[in-house]
Amino acid sequence: MASPSSEEIRTAPEEQEPQQNVLIVGAGPAGPATALRLAQAGIMVDIIETEQQLSEEPRAVTYYASALTALDKMGIIPDMKEAVFVSARFCFDSAGQDGDYT
Ligand SMILES: Cc1cc2nc3c(=O)[nH]c(=O)nc-3n(C[C@H](O)[C@H](O)[C@H](O)COP(=O)(O)OP(=O)(O)OC[C@H]3O[C@@H](n4cnc5c(N)ncnc54)[C@H](O)[C@@H]3O)c2cc1C
Repeated sequence: MASPSSEEIRTAPEEQEPQQNVLIVGAGPAGPATALRLAQAGIMVDIIETEQQLSEEPRAVTYYASALTALDKMGIIPDMKEAVFVSARFCFDSAGQDGDYT
């Protein structure tokens, strides 16, 4: 029996195409963010997390430019603006009061 050509090896029959399921390990900020982008691209995603509950400790006092770019691509900036305190300056927020440290 003849060996398959390299072209035959590269081109799998349609019914043998691998499913594009991705397993993400960890539900910190990176895991769900990656899952959302993959889902938006039509890729099925499963996330596993070792902790029983997601952490509710604040870990995002500040969003840097690269994070904002990524969040913008996810399309969630409008929802975030409903929930966050926005300042153009470096400051600490205390009960809604803008305590500036400029
Ligand atoms: C107090 C604090 C304040 C911070 N403030 C800011 C800030 O203001 N701005 C900012 O940009 N960043 C901040 N950070 C950093 C930011 O929290 C981290 O960069 C971010 O959490 C990293 O996200 P991650 O998803 O890569 O990892 P992690 O948040 O560490 O999440 C990893 C997840 O994977 C799970 N996991 C690990 N191993 C396994 C396994 N084998 N199987 C299943 N699940 C597993 C863990 O339980 C965890 O839930 C802060 C961090 C801390 C601790």
